[in-house]
Amino acid sequence: MAIIVQKYGGSSVADSDKIMAVARRVVSTVKEGNQVVVVVSAQGKTTDSLIQQARSIAKNPPKREMDMLLSTGEQVSIALLAMAIDSLGQAVISLTGPQGGIMTDTQHTKARIREVDGARISAELAQGKVVIVAGFQGVTNTNDITTLGRGGSDTTAVAVAAALKARVCEIYTDVDGVYSADPRLVPDARKLDEVDYGEMLELASLGAMILQPRAVEVAAVYEVPIHVRSSFSQESGTIIREVNVVEREISVTGVASDENCAKITLVGIPTDVSVLHRVFSSLAAEGVNVDMIVQAGTATPTADLTFTVTREELETALDIIAKIQGDQDWSVVCDEDVAKVSIVGAGMMTNPGVAARMFAALDEESIQVHVVSTSEIKVSCLVPRGRYQDAVRACHRKFELTNGN
Ligand code: ADP
Ligand code: ASP
Ligand code: MG
Repeated sequence: MAIIVQKYGGSSVADSDKIMAVARRVVSTVKEGNQVVVVVSAQGKTTDSLIQQARSIAKNPPKREMDMLLSTGEQVSIALLAMAIDSLGQAVISLTGPQGGIMTDTQHTKARIREVDGARISAELAQGKVVIVAGFQGVTNTNDITTLGRGGSDTTAVAVAAALKARVCEIYTDVDGVYSADPRLVPDARKLDEVDYGEMLELASLGAMILQPRAVEVAAVYEVPIHVRSSFSQESGTIIREVNVVEREISVTGVASDENCAKITLVGIPTDVSVLHRVFSSLAAEGVNVDMIVQAGTATPTADLTFTVTREELETALDIIAKIQGDQDWSVVCDEDVAKVSIVGAGMMTNPGVAARMFAALDEESIQVHVVSTSEIKVSCLVPRGRYQDAVRACHRKFELTNGN
C-alpha cells in the first residue's frame, strides 16, 4: 500500500466547513487504497494573531516562549481535523510534532529538522489509522518545543514524506499550483505543469511563499516528488521534481518578489578585507542572514559596502555593526523602503542576454535599481518598495510568461 502525505495550509482549514471538506478528501484517499498521513497548519491567520498577541505584551519576547505560543495554533487544527475524520467513521489519531517524532535543533522560531523518527507514525498507520501530524513544530533533544519558521508546515510534510518513503507529498493550498508569478500580483500568470527542484528552490527562497524553501531543499535531497494543488478543486496542480533542463529554450520560468528586505550601506570603509571579514562573521555569529552584497569604489582607499538583511533582523544587524564601528571614520545608512524582484530559470545558463532584458523591462518603467545579484539561474534587483509590483509585472511581460504564450 502506498503512503501519501497530504499537507493542508491555513486557508484550507480556516473554518469548520473547510475542515469537513479536508476530512472527506482524506477519507476518499484512504478508500482509493492508500495509507495517509496528514500535516496541517494553524487555521487561517491564527499564527499572525498569536504573534500580535505576544507583541502586545513584549516587544521582543523570549524565543522559547514564542514557540510555546505559536505551536498552539497547529494543535487546534490537528484535534479538529481528527474529530472531523472520526465523524466520517475513519480510524484516526492526531499527533503533535514531538509525538510525531519531529526532532529539531535548538534555534527557537527558526529551528531546522534534524531527524524524523517515524516509528510512532508507522505504528499508527499499521493499525489502519489516518495519522494527523501538527505542522511547523518539533522538539529538541532536551524536550523543548520549537517552530520551523513561517510556512514551516511545508517542511514538516516533506520531511515526514521522506522519512516514510511516501510516494508523493501533496501540498494543498488556496491556488491550484505554482504560477509564473504570484497570481495575486499578476492575474494573468501562467500555471506551470512541472518545475525542477533547483528552480523551485530559487523561486521559494526569493519570495514565492507558495512553499517554504527548506521544504524544497529536503524534497530535492530525498527525491520526494511534491504536488502543489488546490484544496478547493480536483484539478491536478504543479509537480516539483527533477526535470532535465539541458538545452531549455525558455530562459525564464518565473518571477518572484520579496518585500521583507532592508538595505544597509557602510559608507567609506577601508578597502581592507579584514573589515568585511569582521562585519560578516559577527553577523553570522548572531544568526543574521545576509543576502545581496555589493562593494563599490574598490579602486580608492575607501569603499561603500551595501548588503541586505530581513526587516526583522535589521535592528540586530545595526547593533552588531555599531559595535564594530566604534569610533572609526565611516558611517552607516539604512533603507527599509526597498524590495527584491527576481527572475528565475534554469534556461538562463544557456541563453545569453537575460539580465539585459530584465534591465530593459525596468528601464522602460523608469524603475530604479539599487543592487543586483545573480546566480546561474536567477537575476535579482533591489528596487524601491513602492515600485516592486510594477517591476514584477514588467518582467513578467518582458519574458512573455503570460498565460497563452
Ligand atoms: P498555505 O496557507 O496553504 O500554506 P500560503 O499563503 O503560504 O498558503 O501560500 C499560497 C500563496 O502563495 C498563494 O495564495 C499565492 O498568493 C502565493 N504565491 C506566491 N508566489 C506564487 C507563485 N509563483 N505561484 C503560486 N502562488 C504563489
Ligand atoms: N502556521 C505557520 C505559519 O503561519 C506555519 C505554516 O502555515 O506553514 O507560518
Ligand atoms: Mg504556506
